[in-house]
Amino acid sequence: MSANGKCIIFSAPSGAGKTTIVHALLNAGIGLEFSVSACSRDPRPNEVDGKDYHFLGIDGFKKQIDAGAFVEWEEVYTNNYYGTLKSEVERIWENGKAVIFDVDVIGGLNLKKIFGADALAIFVQPPSYEELEKRLRYRSTETEDKIQQRMAKASKELSTASEFDSILVNADLDKAIENAKNLVTQFIQG
Ligand code: 5GP
Repeated sequence: MSANGKCIIFSAPSGAGKTTIVHALLNAGIGLEFSVSACSRDPRPNEVDGKDYHFLGIDGFKKQIDAGAFVEWEEVYTNNYYGTLKSEVERIWENGKAVIFDVDVIGGLNLKKIFGADALAIFVQPPSYEELEKRLRYRSTETEDKIQQRMAKASKELSTASEFDSILVNADLDKAIENAKNLVTQFIQG
């Protein structure tokens, strides 16, 4: 795959608000297109196949690993695989757009290693661990067991913030979106 374009990586613990910020950026008309990841889990009620994720199931996901279809992939939670498809990145660059990724922290740091100076890696930081737990519970799309898994993972993830190019604090969503727009526009134009 040739690195002929730019990309923006958004990573954060689950519940920090990165998906909301990413959607706002996509609607801002600043030349970004979303890299639709593949995953092995089932869709949530509001999710659409091919738009939010390519929902492949575990067998389908493993076939794509064997076919070498991924830039990076990871077992983000036990038996829950997620990965960035080479075909997504190529399609978006061919469209003349910059790619925007919404991935977990490990995936984000891996993508930064792969794309180097062509990538801006942004860590979305919740105001506190307590606030993060509140947001995850409020969203209530997960079982208690899943919430516990995500919180355990979050405390490790919060410690990686300094490895990213920028830290975006999400205490006030409107301000965070404004700051994100500025960061991304500067990078794309630079
Ligand atoms: P969720 O199940 O809440 O949609 O996502 C779980 C986690 O997987 C999130 O942190 C999300 O950003 C991450 N994720 C989504 N797509 C990818 C991907 O392609 N690669 C990696 N490494 N993580 C991903």
